Amino acid sequence: MARRKKIYEGKAKILYEGPEPGTIVQYFKDDATAFNAEKKATIEGKGVLNNRLSEFFMTGLNNIGVPTHFLKRLNMREQLVRSCEIIPLEIIVRNFAAGSLSKRLGIEEGTALPRPIVEYCYKDDKLGDPLVTEEHIAAFGWATQQDMDDILSLALRVNDYMSGLMYGVGIKLIDFKIEIGRVYDGDFQRLVVADEISPDSCRLWDLETGQKLDKDVFRRDLGSLTDAYTEVAKRLGVLPKSGGHSKPTLIN
Ligand code: UDP
Repeated sequence: MARRKKIYEGKAKILYEGPEPGTIVQYFKDDATAFNAEKKATIEGKGVLNNRLSEFFMTGLNNIGVPTHFLKRLNMREQLVRSCEIIPLEIIVRNFAAGSLSKRLGIEEGTALPRPIVEYCYKDDKLGDPLVTEEHIAAFGWATQQDMDDILSLALRVNDYMSGLMYGVGIKLIDFKIEIGRVYDGDFQRLVVADEISPDSCRLWDLETGQKLDKDVFRRDLGSLTDAYTEVAKRLGVLPKSGGHSKPTLIN
C-alpha cells in the first residue's frame, strides 16, 4: 500500500490523508503530555484505549443525533473521520469544580457547580491555550454568534449524554474538553464534534470512592494510567470485564 501523506502531528495523535476526499485518518499515539507538554511520557496501550473509547462516545453521539466527525474505526489505533476546519477554541464544560477553575477561583475540587459552566480557551500552545471570553471570540473573528449558539448547544448535549453514560457505570463526569469542526456540504456548512473524547480530555471520578480515572493520574503521578483507562473501558463494556489485566484486550 502506498504510504499515506501525513497532514499533521499533534501531542497525542497523527492525522493522515484519508482514502476518499473529505476524509482523514486519525492515528492515536501512546504519547502523553501535560502542563503544555512540559511533562511527557509514552504509555503503552493508551492510544489503543483512546481509539476505542473515542469511537464508543462518538458513535453514541451520532446515534442520538449529535453530529460528530467520526465515520468508523479502522484498526487498533486508527479511525476514519470527516475532514473539517477546526474552530480554534477548546470548549470546556464543568459540572464540578476541579483543575484550573479550582485554582483560579479558590473553589475546592469536587464542589458541585450550581449549573454546568462552559468556558472557552484559545487554541495556541505557544500561549498555553489562554481562557478567552465571547468578546475576544467575536472581535478576533474566531467564530460567529451563530457558531457560538450552536457550539453551546452541542457542548451541553455532549455533557448530558456523557454525564448520564458515566453515571450509569458509577463514574462522575467532573469536566471535559471538546473541539468543534466546520464541515461543508455543498453550499451549506454545519458544526460537528471533532478531535477526540477520551479520558485524556475528561475528568472522571469513581462515584463511590472519588478515585481518579482520567489523565490526572498521569498529571499528578497517581498510579497507572492504562489501569485507569482500562477500568473506564471495562465498565462501559468496551473491554471484557473479567481478567483484571492491565493490557487492553480488544473485543471486535
Ligand atoms: N483539557 C484538555 N486539554 C487541554 C486543557 C484541558 O483536554 O489542553 C481538559 C482537562 O482534561 C479537563 C478539562 O479540560 O477535563 C478542564 O481542564 P482545566 O481547565 O481544569 O485544565 P488543567 O487543570 O488540566 O490545566
